[in-house]
Amino acid sequence: MPLKKDSGNTSSSRKKNQLKEISQIIMRLIDHHAHLTSEQYHGSLDEINYRAGKAGVEKIITVGTDLQDSLESLEIAQKYENVFFTAGFHPHEAKSADDQSLEQIRLLLREDKAAALGEIGLDYYYEFSSKEQQKNAFAKQLEIAVQENMPVVIHSRDAFENTAEILSKYSEKLPGIVIHCFGEGPEQAEYCLKQGWYVSFTGVVTFKNAERTRQAAAVVPPEKLLAETDCPYMSPAPLRKYKTNEPSFIVHIAEKLAEVKGLEVNQMCEILWQNAESVFRI
Ligand SMILES: [Zn+2]
Repeated sequence: MPLKKDSGNTSSSRKKNQLKEISQIIMRLIDHHAHLTSEQYHGSLDEINYRAGKAGVEKIITVGTDLQDSLESLEIAQKYENVFFTAGFHPHEAKSADDQSLEQIRLLLREDKAAALGEIGLDYYYEFSSKEQQKNAFAKQLEIAVQENMPVVIHSRDAFENTAEILSKYSEKLPGIVIHCFGEGPEQAEYCLKQGWYVSFTGVVTFKNAERTRQAAAVVPPEKLLAETDCPYMSPAPLRKYKTNEPSFIVHIAEKLAEVKGLEVNQMCEILWQNAESVFRI
């Protein structure tokens, strides 16, 4: 009996080592949505970026949520060669998106390492800014994205209908639209696809109770699929015990998407890489 148990362990650890080797040699990944300005990372960005590199995460986009956060995101992107950034006012911060700040966001988008305008959109779950303020800041930022020819990163929570209504007017005018942290079902995913938008999944897709999210991922064709950690929140399974998520964990999201789409993990990683490179032009 002990022998049998041992051999089982050996084979599973061999499998694990093989996976690790693949992830170090073949896989390359982009985490296109990380919040590296978060206080959880203060003083440890060198290590986090090192661990990301070891896990095959060769590029990271750190996402701005207001003017100050976008400025800090630029600073991080200037410090690390493999890090890019976005600038924009998150719907929570819509109330402080005055015209002057929005003009500064516009200037940030002209920086070499700017990857997109975002994250922008509507959040009716928390409603930290009023619906009117949110819609207003959303529309104004979409106009800026059109004028600056930048892709946009969209946040939508409990507001899919209004988000889709506003955003669909811009489908033709923008170089790329990414629905980040997709939390809707397959029907809404179909709507996004008809509009030509990218649909991006976080660690939620790995959660046991997230069958609807996996059903949504199942209808997204490989060429419109993206993955992101949205760290420091929502570590993917099997790493949920780690309260602070980080870019190196993205491989588990890619693995789950590969499973859902019936593809090899390294194929999925390559698809995700190509999509992120092409939409964000990084
Ligand atoms: Zn985010």
